[in-house]
Amino acid sequence: MNYLIDHETKSIHRTSFAGDLCGFHTSSLENREFTQSIAYVDQLINESQYSKCEFCVS
Ligand SMILES: [Zn+2]
Repeated sequence: MNYLIDHETKSIHRTSFAGDLCGFHTSSLENREFTQSIAYVDQLINESQYSKCEFCVS
């Protein structure tokens, strides 16, 4: 699973399901990060108050 992290809105998208509703298109490119690490994603959620995007939940 690939994840797109939007550091501007502190939201985490699943690239397979991400779409126009996700809103990351309005965030600047340098604030977007791609990762395949679920450990990194969990760390952001647990330690930095990031949240998973509701539109990416299948
Ligand atoms: Zn999303």
